[in-house]
Amino acid sequence: MTFVTDCSFLENELLDVVRLFKRRPEMLTHSFVYEEGVFRNVFSVDGKEYFYEDGDTVRDELEFKRLERRYAKLRLYQILSQTYLEKMPWGALTGIRPTKLAYMEQEQGKDFAALFRQMGVQEENIRLVAQILEAQKGIYEKKDGNTDLFVSIPFCPTKCAYCSFITAPIEKTKHFLPAYLDCLEKELAAAEESVKNLRSVYIGGGTPFALDVSELERVLQAVEPIYTAYSSRVEYTVEAGRPDVFSEEKLRLLKDYGVTRICINPQSFSDATLQKIGRKHTEADVYKAFAMSEKYGFSVNVDLIAGLADETPEIFAQSVQKAVETGADNITVHCLSLKSGAKLKEETDYLENEHISKMVSFSRELLGGRGYVPYYMYRQKYQVGNNENVGWTKPNKACVYNIDIMEEIADNLAVGANAVSKRVYTEKGLITRCASQKDLPTYIAHVDETIEKRRKFFL
Ligand code: SF4
Repeated sequence: MTFVTDCSFLENELLDVVRLFKRRPEMLTHSFVYEEGVFRNVFSVDGKEYFYEDGDTVRDELEFKRLERRYAKLRLYQILSQTYLEKMPWGALTGIRPTKLAYMEQEQGKDFAALFRQMGVQEENIRLVAQILEAQKGIYEKKDGNTDLFVSIPFCPTKCAYCSFITAPIEKTKHFLPAYLDCLEKELAAAEESVKNLRSVYIGGGTPFALDVSELERVLQAVEPIYTAYSSRVEYTVEAGRPDVFSEEKLRLLKDYGVTRICINPQSFSDATLQKIGRKHTEADVYKAFAMSEKYGFSVNVDLIAGLADETPEIFAQSVQKAVETGADNITVHCLSLKSGAKLKEETDYLENEHISKMVSFSRELLGGRGYVPYYMYRQKYQVGNNENVGWTKPNKACVYNIDIMEEIADNLAVGANAVSKRVYTEKGLITRCASQKDLPTYIAHVDETIEKRRKFFL
């Protein structure tokens, strides 16, 4: 496709709209002019011209940019939707945080549903957003200084076929582990002074349970001084990971250090699928992990992915059903998203999976019918069927960390390789970021600089 626009600010935004569609024009041109309260967008799609004039009130520069983006995207979406006779679940919205947009509308005293309807969002997704906002009541808190602590463990037993994360099979990277743990200890000791009001701790991966007991204990010990200062009211998650790396000893250790929530992440309950995506565990291993964890009373999250391998809606439905039967407090339903780096991207055309919408509606029906409510969501680029990832929860079991991260309402103090800390200035409506190095040797070599950079970042 050849694409030309005279407005560089809108270039990527408009390309995001084009990418929503399977079919694309060969030639697309666009020009934009703003005059006396009117946003004029002119498109030419394969030689056919379209003119639009949208009038609106602009109070400041920020709002101007927002409206400029909104009208251009909406109009292009309408053209392509009519041309290719396709409607998207989220209409012309391409952002990854629809709920954040809904909150922004509400803060201005507006009904978010009106904007979502204008942008072509399907009614069931408008209802989904309303349910999420409702479920977040009592947890959603916009206050400068609120902080979540994230510890990155980028090690996994094997590499899953759909994964684009920096993690590598631990067999190839374990020689970095001793130095990596030294760095985490240093980072966490230095991080203490930067934590103001801790809301949650999240040790994530990768697969934290890929570490052996003594390695895991070093991480928990390093977190302890920060956690214990707030422990009576702080959620503490370890994203343990795949069922095949669970052990009694590791679970007991988590309990001893005050962990309150774990993740058991099978992604699918189908043994055939697990084999195809490069997992070394079976459905039976998932139940074993649950049985082992039961006596410790953790809140448990189960991750599932819709659109894996050649799963049919029926196979996916069975996984949702089985996840419910485990009694997990949280069930997160992801739709497959492939980025560069993922082996599956080269081997499949799953991005065109026609079953995905059926899988999504089935999960909504089943989880909603079994007492779960949606409590956070996000979308990704290149996501199968242009759908979304939704976290479901039993009443009063919502994960604070997931809400804070997805709504961007608290600072995120992130340590480890490939960790991106965020500072959220709620009053100013500003978010800044500070990243560490991605690969293990570079991260290890530069840890002192990272610590200093982060210390200044959180001053
Ligand atoms: S367990 Fe997660 S992080 Fe590790 S390879 Fe698989 S998808 Fe990637």
